[in-house]
Amino acid sequence: MTSTLPSSLPAAESRSGAVPNAVPAPVSVRIRQRLEQAGVPFLANDNIAEHLLDGELDQLEIEVAGKVRELLRSLVIDIENDHNTEETAERVARMYLHEVFKGRYHQQPKIASFPNVKKLDEIYTVGPISVRSACSHHLVPILGNCWIGIKPGERVIGLSKFSRVADWVFSRPHIQEEAVMILADEIERLCEPQGLAILVKAQHYCMKWRGVKEPQTSMVNSVVRGDFRHDPSLKAEFFELVKQQESLLMA
Ligand SMILES: [Zn+2]
Repeated sequence: MTSTLPSSLPAAESRSGAVPNAVPAPVSVRIRQRLEQAGVPFLANDNIAEHLLDGELDQLEIEVAGKVRELLRSLVIDIENDHNTEETAERVARMYLHEVFKGRYHQQPKIASFPNVKKLDEIYTVGPISVRSACSHHLVPILGNCWIGIKPGERVIGLSKFSRVADWVFSRPHIQEEAVMILADEIERLCEPQGLAILVKAQHYCMKWRGVKEPQTSMVNSVVRGDFRHDPSLKAEFFELVKQQESLLMA
C-alpha cells in the first residue's frame, strides 16, 4: 500500500504533526488560550480588553457575525431571501461587541480623579443614572436606574464620571447582584471614598417578555460600604436622599 502523505515533509513538521499552511485557529480560540495561560477569568461579566491584541476585536466581529448567521440558519430563517434579516448577523455582532457588551471588550473610559483638597466629607448622592444590561441566563435586557452615594475620601471624581463607569460596568451580561458589586469595586478604586452606597432598581425582560411574564416586577438591590455600612444614620440618609431624587422625577 502506498502512502498518500508527501514524503518530503520537513523533519520538524512531521514530528510535531503540524500541517503546512494550516488554517489558523479562530480568533476567539486564540484569545481564550491566552487568557487561560495567564490564569485570567473570562466570565460573562469580566472585562478582557487588556488581553486583546490590536486588530483582534475586528476579527472577533467577523467571527461572531458568522456564528449569528449560523444561528439564524438553525432557526430556519431564510436569510438569503429575507431582506429584513439579510444583515442581521453583522448588526448583532457589532451590537454585542461595541454596544450592549462593550464593557467586556473595551477599556474603561478614562476617568481622572483629583485630590480632595478641601477635605469635603459631607455625603452626596448622584442619580438616577440609567443602566442597561442583559441577564447572563437569557441575554435579554435588564433596564433600570442606579443611585450612588458618596462620602468623599482622599480623591474625588466629576459627577458625570459615575454615569460613564456605570455604563461600562453594566454593558456586559450580568446578574444584577454582581453588577452592583463590580460597580462598587470600580468606584472604590477610582476615588477611594470613606463611604459608598449604591442602589439599583431594574426591570428584567426575562421576567417581562418570557417566563412568568410579569410586566410590573422589578428588582431592587443595594450595597453599602465603609461609613455607610458602619453608621446606620448615614445609611438612612442615603435612602432618604434617593427618595427625594425619585420624587423630583414625579414632579
Ligand atoms: Zn434571564
